[in-house]
Amino acid sequence: MAVSTLAAATGSNIDHWGERVDLACAFRWTARWNMHESVANHFSIAVSDDGCDFLVNPRGRHFSRVRASEFLLTNADDPSVMERPDAPDPSAWALHGGIHRRVPGARVILHVHSKYATALACLKNPKLEAVDNNTMRFYQRIAYDLGFQGMGMGDEAERVAALAGDKPILLLGNHGVMVLGPDVAQALDDLYHFERACETYITALATGRELAVVSHAVAARTAQQWIEYPDLTENHFKALKEILDEEEPDYRD
Ligand SMILES: [Zn+2]
Repeated sequence: MAVSTLAAATGSNIDHWGERVDLACAFRWTARWNMHESVANHFSIAVSDDGCDFLVNPRGRHFSRVRASEFLLTNADDPSVMERPDAPDPSAWALHGGIHRRVPGARVILHVHSKYATALACLKNPKLEAVDNNTMRFYQRIAYDLGFQGMGMGDEAERVAALAGDKPILLLGNHGVMVLGPDVAQALDDLYHFERACETYITALATGRELAVVSHAVAARTAQQWIEYPDLTENHFKALKEILDEEEPDYRD
């Protein structure tokens, strides 16, 4: 659907259009990387300064089909969105809304049950050790939530938001992972590299042989080098969009 047609059909859905296109790109690539879970899991992006207004994907839409126009604009304090036929599931709305409200700096929240991050979350001690470039990227940048009580049960949003602090990765014990970022490009790059880090770590653990864990100094230096690496995140996201523009440009619709 062209943007002009879309405007007539949906009115305010052309607001925040750049954020919508970026978020749709993140959904398409998460499906390509096989990190999605059926038609569940949610990504969201805050569009107000206090984080309370946020865009989130509608219920039942496959990640590989998500389009920019489809995101629901909702408010963390307004549960009436749950009365819409395309509303997200209540636990996802409560969790994303609760974190956006409590951590306004987390503009983007990506939540998946990807294979290797979830495998790590299933370990009694889920600490990701610094054993390669990708694991060192997240050295001292992961918060661990070990209080799983069931899907959306208990004080999940409050508990998880309190843990997040300034860390970009929340490993949800017995559950999956949440990535918190300042924009879609950064959050998606972190999601990609975190899954790669977990894949390497779980594969190394599976050998049963002793891990070569590096020192604090080496891990901390390498983590800082990742932060200072010029244009890596921007170039990654630009390349991802260029590929979609050639192969499935309807993510922009
Ligand atoms: Zn989940």
